[in-house]
Amino acid sequence: MYDIIIIGAGPAGLTAALYALRANKKILILEAKAYGGQIVAAHKIENYPAIENISGVDFADNLYKQVEKLGAEIKYETVLKINEERSVFTDKNTYQAKAIIIATGAKNRRLGLLEEQKFVGKGLSYCASCDGNFYKDKDVAVIGGGNTALEDALYLANIARKVYLIHRRDVFRGEEAYYKKLKELDNVSFMLNSNCVKIDGDERIESITIKDKDENLSELKIDGLFIAVGQEPSNEIFADVIDVDDKGYIIAHDDVCTSKDKIYVAGDARVKTLRQLTTAVADGSLAAVMAIKEISK
Ligand code: NAP
Repeated sequence: MYDIIIIGAGPAGLTAALYALRANKKILILEAKAYGGQIVAAHKIENYPAIENISGVDFADNLYKQVEKLGAEIKYETVLKINEERSVFTDKNTYQAKAIIIATGAKNRRLGLLEEQKFVGKGLSYCASCDGNFYKDKDVAVIGGGNTALEDALYLANIARKVYLIHRRDVFRGEEAYYKKLKELDNVSFMLNSNCVKIDGDERIESITIKDKDENLSELKIDGLFIAVGQEPSNEIFADVIDVDDKGYIIAHDDVCTSKDKIYVAGDARVKTLRQLTTAVADGSLAAVMAIKEISK
């Protein structure tokens, strides 16, 4: 019997672990892939208080080491199911906890083109900081209008010969500060009110087809395509036990409490206004404190 099982080892889950371990609780962290979550894809974090500049990988490593030093037990297993009695079923084992914290974050949204999957790893990527270096002096396109797309375009402009930033509207959702920096770069071109409707290539991506607001089609020759059109949750496995909204995000009251007793949610997996590192770690700490309080009653 664990005091708390934390599902997901991103910033929210690891912060929950930090707080629970410091309170001397017996915890288990279950992670399907690798620790760090989405933040490892951030090449530079500049909006975390008191840290002027850090890479996502370094942030994740530091947090992981901090938790590891406190004796965290982490198992790389995929959670398949939980139940109201707080049993957790993975692809390898079944565990029991007094409380569960779901910190499964969100995954990259697909653009939705039929041929998209075929080109993943063959010129198509969802992570500029992971794959950007393959495009030194080449031509790339970034699709999206949020902070991720703007940051990716900035990052790639330092590596690639040319960066096309393609966005479906004429206004960016991302911060003005990034847009300002991008406008100053000679090798960045903006393609606004534009949608990518087709990806072409033989072995690898060779070009994409762009449709503008007047429905005109044009072909753009590129070597790499970075899709940054937001995230979506991975909460299907929890949806029969706790309430989720129509997009699949977990509905929370008091920030981190789900519709079931002693099952909490922290980070991007829940309905919230701002999905950032600061709010993920805030959720992680709050979920742990609330869980500890509840199971100590
Ligand atoms: P996002 O803010 O949700 O933006 C997604 C973008 O993709 C939007 O511009 C959206 O267009 C566009 N889009 C969505 N579906 C599309 C489709 N099918 N075809 C074409 N375009 C599509 O996602 P994000 O940029 O990944 O950011 C997620 C969260 O993380 C945000 O809260 C963001 O602020 C945060 N974040 C913060 C930082 C930072 O602070 N350093 C860095 C990265 C991310 P519309 O605008 O037209 O809807």
